[in-house]
Amino acid sequence: LHQELNQIGINADERQEDLLLRHLDLVVEMNMHMNLTRITDPESAVTLHVVDSLTLLPSFLESQKKTHLPYLDLGTGAGFPGIPLAIMSQSQGLLIDSTQKKIAAVSDFLVKLGLDDRIEADAVRAEELALTKKRQFGTVVARAVAPLSVLIEYASPLLCRHGSLVVSKGQLSDEEDDSLYAAELCGMDAVSRETIELPHDMGHRELLVYIRERNPQIKLPRRAGMAQHHPLTRK
Ligand code: SAH
Repeated sequence: LHQELNQIGINADERQEDLLLRHLDLVVEMNMHMNLTRITDPESAVTLHVVDSLTLLPSFLESQKKTHLPYLDLGTGAGFPGIPLAIMSQSQGLLIDSTQKKIAAVSDFLVKLGLDDRIEADAVRAEELALTKKRQFGTVVARAVAPLSVLIEYASPLLCRHGSLVVSKGQLSDEEDDSLYAAELCGMDAVSRETIELPHDMGHRELLVYIRERNPQIKLPRRAGMAQHHPLTRK
């Protein structure tokens, strides 16, 4: 873990590394009782869960520096990337997932890792949260949740002015075209795109950052499920 983090330019202290690996242990243990992840052999899990989550760290920290608001991990699953980012920062955060069972597991992890004083977990859909916590987050992160245009639509109403959506993607196909259109409608600007190689040739990641600069041109959030089933695409 130490070496792999160094390879992507991240320096974790011993306590942080210990917590990152304990999270992984908890995930693997919980995975015997419920389906949280397909990747459980220790070496791949270190790279594909922990290191992969932390490719977001520099952009995440830069975004969090600008606001004193909590971050949101949208579709956290077993806590990725939200828990590794919590371990590597001092931020307050909220981890959400629409699946109640996953949030029950993640809540348990937060207590066991001693993160429950500043990180919360809630079983709620992004579209529902946007009705009660409008513009209350400084950063929205997400990994492997939905196409870019859908993530942009979810994130926009949740972000404060100048707040960032920070996401990583394996492959970007025609997704990007749609995402520009969605960004325009949602008042977001694409501000950076960076390619990162994972250690051991385990693939590359596109890191993308969008900032909320204007009010959306459409009323957000749309009804639950609309973003996913009727994404904002140019006709
Ligand atoms: N981010 C985790 C999990 C990815 S799987 C990881 O990288 O390992 C995608 C998760 O997003 C699922 O657990 C699913 O329940 C959740 N999800 C999908 N759409 C959602 C929405 N609209 N609101 C909240 N959670 C959502």
